[in-house]
Amino acid sequence: MKFGILLVSMTCFFGAAVTYANSMGYDDKDFGCIDKTQAEKYVDDFGIDQKSFGGAELCNNQVDTKKLFNDLQILEGGQFDSNQSNLLIRGIIPSDKYYAWMKSETRGMERGNDVPYATAYNQMGYFTMQDGWANSSTLARVGVVIHEARHTDGYRHYPCTQGPYQGVNLDGCDQSYQQAGSHAVEMEYYARVSVAGKNFHPVYKSMARLMAMGRTNFVFNSQPMRQRELVLARDGQNDSPVLFDSTKKIQREGADFVGRLKRTSFGAALFNGLQAMALDIYETTGFKKSNQDDYSYFKLLKMESLGELKDFEEFDKGPKRYVAVVNGANQMATYNFPRGTWNRATPLSFDFARSTTMLPTGERGYFMVAQDGEVYSLNPETRMVSAVGKKWDSQVVSVAAINGVKLVLKADGSIYQHAADGSDSLFDNGTYTEMINIPVYDAFEVK
Ligand SMILES: [Zn+2]
Repeated sequence: MKFGILLVSMTCFFGAAVTYANSMGYDDKDFGCIDKTQAEKYVDDFGIDQKSFGGAELCNNQVDTKKLFNDLQILEGGQFDSNQSNLLIRGIIPSDKYYAWMKSETRGMERGNDVPYATAYNQMGYFTMQDGWANSSTLARVGVVIHEARHTDGYRHYPCTQGPYQGVNLDGCDQSYQQAGSHAVEMEYYARVSVAGKNFHPVYKSMARLMAMGRTNFVFNSQPMRQRELVLARDGQNDSPVLFDSTKKIQREGADFVGRLKRTSFGAALFNGLQAMALDIYETTGFKKSNQDDYSYFKLLKMESLGELKDFEEFDKGPKRYVAVVNGANQMATYNFPRGTWNRATPLSFDFARSTTMLPTGERGYFMVAQDGEVYSLNPETRMVSAVGKKWDSQVVSVAAINGVKLVLKADGSIYQHAADGSDSLFDNGTYTEMINIPVYDAFEVK
């Protein structure tokens, strides 16, 4: 340590760019220059190979060295209320010991891209951060660092019995939350930030909540949280999302972004053909920030450009998760998770108009509606597309279900309850333009 340069910077080490009173930043651009002494402490504490991260860098947030410094500032500076309880907070890591624990589990950190399908890996306490880490948000990067640190203690992963990696020969899941492995330690951090964080930006807290749900729902073979289905509609008048619980109707925060409402594994997002912005349907932050979807597999859009897409859907069939897209050339492709690449796009035999994940019969999956109204179904396992033998009613905008009740959004903007005998009765008189089913988890309270 060189103490001679302590007074180089007069600013507090979180920089002057923080935009929210008494809280740390949530985006790299919120982090000003780091004090040189502070940076040197991090390099010493974590054995950082600065050269591999792009060289010593105190100010430029484009350089990976500085990104890592930002992450370590969040780790060191984060404060938690230890009295807050949550399903995902089990006291695996003491809430005031993140920095000390990280330090004790880290022998060295370097940047590489030798295992492109991984975000990072840990060899005997030496972490190698891949492109996937560098391209992520501050929150996701901090999560990766915490996750990797747990591996130093010998916690490994197991084959997945559900989710996108179900049935393939890759160890990506933990058996259970109680196992207290890398996934659990990572989720505990997110849950703490969200419900017990004292000095985190409200947007960072929201990101942590979405990340906790977006990952907890598929990285454990024994599901630690319970899922239920609610309905989210978009009010065409003020463009904001409205959540329907069994009896309640709750106004939610939109995003500063124009896109179509999509179901995601953590809840919902807005998709415009190129990007997806996450919606937080649990709490409002007061910021209405466009928060890129880093949480569900809509994040694939960030990794590789596919041009402007006509559709993107993340959906489950049985225990397995799939992603399907329809591109601008009217071709359909699914994502090959174990290979970490898209399967070859195949031309559709019809002109794609829209998709739906539920048919009026209640059947779920990935269905494509042609311009002439003909409905087609994708078998995601064989990647075969076949006609269902039904026409989509042009008066029906979308269908959803809540507590066993079937709902239909019609072209008049109102939602109707659809009875078994085919009759419709008014459920909510409105000016809705979209309606989807979304998953909600009991790990967080809908406030
Ligand atoms: Zn891992």
